[in-house]
Amino acid sequence: RAKEEGRNTLRFFDPVMQAAVNQRLQLQAELHKALRQGELALFYQPQVDAQGRIVGAEALLRWHHPEKGLVAPGLFIPLAEETGQILALGRWVLETALRQQGQWRQDPVLAALNLSINVSARQFRQAEFVAELRELLLASGADPRRIKLELTESLLLQDVEQVIAIMQALRSLGLGLSLDDFGTGYSSLGYLKRLPLDQVKIDQGFVRGMLQDEKDAAIAHSIIALAHRLGLGVVAEGVETEAHHRFLLAQGCRDFQGYLFGRPEPLADFEQRAKATA
Ligand code: C2E
Ligand code: MG
Ligand code: MG
Ligand code: MG
Repeated sequence: RAKEEGRNTLRFFDPVMQAAVNQRLQLQAELHKALRQGELALFYQPQVDAQGRIVGAEALLRWHHPEKGLVAPGLFIPLAEETGQILALGRWVLETALRQQGQWRQDPVLAALNLSINVSARQFRQAEFVAELRELLLASGADPRRIKLELTESLLLQDVEQVIAIMQALRSLGLGLSLDDFGTGYSSLGYLKRLPLDQVKIDQGFVRGMLQDEKDAAIAHSIIALAHRLGLGVVAEGVETEAHHRFLLAQGCRDFQGYLFGRPEPLADFEQRAKATA
């Protein structure tokens, strides 16, 4: 009977949808395990100055899945955002990255590097976020002046006054704040004036398009000019070719991140690269 009922129930589901639901549930369970079993890692992608010297890195989350191999965050972060698992993942990322900078701080070359850490809107919104960061900074011995938190415009879907207050609290810890994927989200230009930011990152979509598409070029140009006028730093992401680099330099951009300068790579490889080019 139970079997029959089961069959009847299943008939109401679209098998394709059912498969998708199962896949999500499985991924969710696996992700829970991943955190406890040490399957997560941070990769580091160089950020360079106008001369191509490494001035920092962005920490990017990777999952060494026991069967699937290396999984990129695009495949699990959106799910983790929905389920709330991003809070535990995000905490792990912060803890790991800050501890890493605390170690770099002891090294004559690596101590000078900035480290950018992605923070999801949901993480930022937690009541304890600022307190948690304060504790993690103390425990890790990280230098807050070398740490940048990368925030996204999805933050601005909530009360902006409150967002500004949290940002100010973070900056009073000595941290820098960067607005990631700028130009793709919800922010109006007016927010750039009000938010206590240090930097914006030009979204890689504009960089990818700017040599063929005049509109992308106009947007990239305008973001750089606007950032300068507002006294903000500006980093171009997704710089893949010399032509991209030249074009951005001509527009006044001085900080870059992209495959042209290095892909995200494991810690040891990044450290070696940074020391070799210092
Ligand atoms: P993002 O923060 O905008 O990071 C930049 C993404 O662009 C990274 O993808 C990086 O590998 C990729 N990228 C960099 N240079 C190039 C290039 O020249 N060409 C191309 N095609 N891609 C380039 P990744 O590592 O797959 O991360 C994707 C997104 O996942 C990130 O975008 C960020 O939104 C999210 N993410 C990654 N790690 C974390 C994390 O620790 N916490 C949170 N909340 N989100 C994270
Ligand atoms: Mg980022
Ligand atoms: Mg980005
Ligand atoms: Mg992105």
